[in-house]
Amino acid sequence: MNDDLPTQLIDTFGRVHTNLRISVTDRCNIRCFYCMPEHNVQFKPRSEILTFEEIVRFTKITAGLGVNKIRLTGGEPLVRQNLDQLVRAIRGIDRIDDIALTTNGILLADQAEALKSAGLDRLNISLDTLDPDTFFKISRRSGLDAVLAGIEAAQQCQFKKIRLNAIAITQLTESSILPLATFARERRLELRFIEFMPLDADDAWSQDQVLTGQKIRSMIESEFGPLVPKTDVDPSQPSTDYSYTDLDLCVGFINPVSQPFCGSCNRLRLTAEGQIRNCLFSTVEWDARKMMRSGGSDADIARLLVECISRKKKGHGIDSVEFDRPQRAMYQIGG
Ligand code: SF4
Repeated sequence: MNDDLPTQLIDTFGRVHTNLRISVTDRCNIRCFYCMPEHNVQFKPRSEILTFEEIVRFTKITAGLGVNKIRLTGGEPLVRQNLDQLVRAIRGIDRIDDIALTTNGILLADQAEALKSAGLDRLNISLDTLDPDTFFKISRRSGLDAVLAGIEAAQQCQFKKIRLNAIAITQLTESSILPLATFARERRLELRFIEFMPLDADDAWSQDQVLTGQKIRSMIESEFGPLVPKTDVDPSQPSTDYSYTDLDLCVGFINPVSQPFCGSCNRLRLTAEGQIRNCLFSTVEWDARKMMRSGGSDADIARLLVECISRKKKGHGIDSVEFDRPQRAMYQIGG
């Protein structure tokens, strides 16, 4: 590309951005209260959602700026038709060496094989509880059996990694922590607990609903003994990982509220309708779709990316009085 363009996306704090999270849809087949409103969800019209060709073009441009890891998200990405075709196209992009997907697992049993053969490397499957009533309280839909069938099918496919993600919420999921840890141990699945973040659509989040990683860790240690900190980890990963004393299996804690990890952040995001976000909590966006659909060149879009990253703040600021919640809820960002 052009001489005025860098080969890496480095912000003013020296953070190198190599990880692009792409939301392929804002739609979902359940309604988790920490992510979506229960009723009257305003989904974007199809014409505003990026086509696979536009997503591939954008991904190629970011690969030229040093991005090498892609995570596909939503809404729920598996509700987007023919997603395996997008995975195959991204697999063909030079310098992209890892493709992952985050799913609620409900449609996974039918799609796992096609995604694997298209070149998907890793899967994160959301599983906050094994209790059907708690599942319904959280997602306002039933579907736990389908998620468990999805996990089963995915384990047959030999992905590089399958990880369970559990949002932890005071009282609501506390009784689910140990059953989830046991479930993951029995199936040799990595498990991560994620603190509840102020990105719920109904703006009902409060600090006292945050079940901290520290609290969850002590619950697990009381049952399975002391956890051993893992040392061979990616320094920019959001999780603090451990393994069990009796089992070399990873259990991790993503603590954006109690222990922010913004100092080593390497992530940028593309929304389903083509807005670039330099942070999950960004209140400003850069319109790549408009540029792509109005004849902008690849270099123009690359410059937009460079500007976006140059304006990235030091951190999310959730704990500061100036904290300004994004206008978007989680399903409109993609986590
Ligand atoms: S909150 Fe923003 S800066 Fe912090 S880790 Fe997440 S995306 Fe990065």
